[in-house]
Amino acid sequence: MDEMISMKNADPGFMDLVAKKVGLQEIKPCYTCGSCTGVCPVRTVVEDFDPRRIIHMIALGLKEEVLSSDTIWFCCFCDSCYSVCPQGIKFARIAKELQGMAKEEGYVKQGFLEGFGQVEGYLKDLCRRTMFKKVRDGFHGTHKMPCWRKFTSKEG
Ligand code: SF4
Ligand code: SF4
Repeated sequence: MDEMISMKNADPGFMDLVAKKVGLQEIKPCYTCGSCTGVCPVRTVVEDFDPRRIIHMIALGLKEEVLSSDTIWFCCFCDSCYSVCPQGIKFARIAKELQGMAKEEGYVKQGFLEGFGQVEGYLKDLCRRTMFKKVRDGFHGTHKMPCWRKFTSKEG
């Protein structure tokens, strides 16, 4: 996803719409610090996946580009990025809503969903294993994966 971002068809209300969907008055401005992308276990193995970039595209109102992108389906909802985000942006919630909007508004084809359903379990397993390694390498923070809870409970 290193290609230039095009502002064609930008929808200035998109960020507010996403905020409303996730039950917030607003999504706090992103500092583009990249902490989310740095910690993300999916990003470690799928280099096209970049939560910071997706947040940036939402802020720019690039609804069509975001909702038609395969990458919004790669988030495994582990919340690792939330634990390091200085703005408390909960990307997993946003990704869930983006997926729902993509389905409702016809941005995603049934064939894709069927194919995705077949790899979803693998993606979650990959996410858990990658995060497990990060934890063993010294990463600290909240995390929903069972491997994380096991380690943090030991630390009290
Ligand atoms: S960690 Fe938060 S503030 Fe930093 S780039 Fe990611 S979403 Fe933006
Ligand atoms: S919730 Fe997990 S998989 Fe999704 S963007 Fe954040 S760190 Fe990556």
